This record gives sequence, structure tokens and C-alpha cells, in this order.
Amino acid sequence: MKTEAFCVSGSKLASLFQVWLTEQVQAGSERLGRKPGLAVILVGDNPASLSYIKRKEKVAEKCGFKTFDHRLKSSVSEKELSALIYELNQNSEVDGILLQLPLPKGLNENHFLRMIEPAKDADGLHPFNQGLLLAGDRDVPLPCTPKGVMALIDFAEHHRRTGEEAKKWPLETADLSSKKAVVIGRSLLVGKPLAQLLLSRNATVQMLHSKSPEPGKLCAEADIVVAAVGSAELVRGDWVKQGASVIDVGINRGEDGKLLGDVEYSSCAKKAAYITPVPGGVGPMTVAMLLLNTFESFLRRELV
Ligand code: NAP
Repeated sequence: MKTEAFCVSGSKLASLFQVWLTEQVQAGSERLGRKPGLAVILVGDNPASLSYIKRKEKVAEKCGFKTFDHRLKSSVSEKELSALIYELNQNSEVDGILLQLPLPKGLNENHFLRMIEPAKDADGLHPFNQGLLLAGDRDVPLPCTPKGVMALIDFAEHHRRTGEEAKKWPLETADLSSKKAVVIGRSLLVGKPLAQLLLSRNATVQMLHSKSPEPGKLCAEADIVVAAVGSAELVRGDWVKQGASVIDVGINRGEDGKLLGDVEYSSCAKKAAYITPVPGGVGPMTVAMLLLNTFESFLRRELV
């Protein structure tokens, strides 16, 4: 008899990752004589953004990073924000720069993201790094959410292979050559880079978007479904193939203020073998991968 899907906990995986990262940071800091540095820029006082950056800084400090916290008023001029990014690009103690989005109206996000030195691009959103990703280079800062989704897929595949939950980071890289993957959503933040990462693992990838006909039918043929849409509970049980892995990137608020994913958990968990929850799925792994990007930049600078 089919039982409920295995819940792929991003919180659990992020804890395994943090144990590993803390050890690596300690060893790296002794070798280089300084801690890895993460600079965080928040412009304005968006409460959700404030709570995100607090969480990121807290985890960074717990893992042994030095953080540089920059809070700017929403009235900041383009010149002041540019000067800060320039200064952080030059600062030898800073390995990763995070510009928290969204920026207040009037400030062009792409313009400022592109000012960040690609080697210090903690979010992996600089077009230079996205171009290298497309060219097949993996030794660059990769967008954090897709990188976190791949880790969750590896976590699920480990369980599928061994019948046991992985106990430590790093995880074995899963061979996805026999898998059909559907990615719903084609943003530069999630869908497009994720499709590249899945392709690089030899999965057969299909990308859906708001104009795709019969999304349910296409999803129901997939071994892996990743929903990154921003539409509460769009993916329902009848969209899911028996035994599939379902990764829910979405963050939506229901009418009662409750946090909802893009996946209807209750119906999908009856069909899937593996499913991520919201909250506690992709979110903690996005934060984890921000720190991994910064730590990898720190190590790369050792080689320069
Ligand atoms: P986005 O830039 O708004 O892109 C949404 C994508 O979904 C677009 O490509 C859009 O298609 C597609 N779409 C919209 N309605 C659809 C439908 N009915 N069927 C199929 N595709 C549809 O959003 P995003 O930045 O990628 O974020 C997606 C979701 O993930 C949001 O809920 C966001 O909050 C969440 N998120 C979570 C994390 C995390 O750490 N957990 C990180 C990033 C984002 P078109 O291109 O045709 O418009």
C-alpha cells in the first residue's frame, strides 16, 4: 500500500551543511589568517527583507563568518549606493556581497547587481556568472535557490538509493540521466539557472511557464517536478506521477496569512515519493548556498 511521501526537510539538510561549513570555515580561517567576510546591504525598511537578512547574518555568524551589515535609507541616492558597492568590491576582508532585493522604487536592481564584482557575487545573479553557468562552468557563484534545490534533489536521491537519510554533508552527486524533470517557472532567479543545473546532471528537462498548455499533463510525466511560480498550491496531486520527487520553491500567503507553497502538499504527498515542505524546505537551503558561495569565493582568493 502506498504510504505518505518522505518529507525532504531543508531545515535538516541545512543543519548538516552548517556542521560541515563551521569546520571548514575554522580550518580556512586558520590558514588564511582571517574569517570569510559577508557584506549585506539592505536599502529601506521592508519588514520581510529585514527578517531575511537577519536570518542570513545570524547563520553566517554561527558558522564563523565575519559580517558587514549596511542599512541604508530608502531615500539613498544612486551615487551613495554605488559608492558603497565600490568600497565593498575593494575591501579585502569581504568575500561575498549580498544586495537584498527588492530595492525601493526608483533604484534599478539590475544596474546595482551588475556593479558587484563577479568574484564576490554571493547571490550568483551577476550576468557574468550566469553566462559562465550557461557555458558549463560550475566553479563560479551559482544562484542560491537553484543550487539549494539541487542539494535537496541529491538528499532525496540518497534516500531513494539507500533507504536511509544522508547523515552528513557533502552529499553524493546523484546521476539524473534516467530522469525527466519539469521546472515550472522561467525566472532568472530560479527557473532558468535550475534548468541548466539539471541539464548538467543529464536530466531531460522541460520548462513550463504561464503560457504553457496542459501543465498538469506535462508534470504528470515527470520524475522530478520543481515548482517556482508564486501561485499558491498550483500543483495538485493529479499533476504528480506516482513515486516522483516534488520540490516546492514557492512562497505565498493564503487569505488567512498562512504560508503556502506552489504545491498542494496534502494531495501531492499521496502520490510523490519525496516532497519538500513550505516552510522548512527550499528556504533554509537558499540561505545555506549563499554562505557556500561566499566561502567558495574566500577559498578562491587564496589561490590568487
Ligand atoms: P517570478 O520571477 O515571478 O517568475 C514566476 C514564473 O512562473 C514565471 O516564469 C511565470 O511565467 C511562471 N508562471 C506564472 N504563473 C504560471 C502558471 N499558472 N503556470 C506556469 N507557470 C507560471 O518568480 P520567482 O522569482 O522565480 O519566484 C517564484 C516563487 O518562488 C515565488 O513564490 C518566490 O517567492 C519563491 N522563491 C522562493 C525562494 C526560497 O528561498 N524559498 C527563493 C526565490 C523565490 P511567465 O514567464 O510566462 O510570466
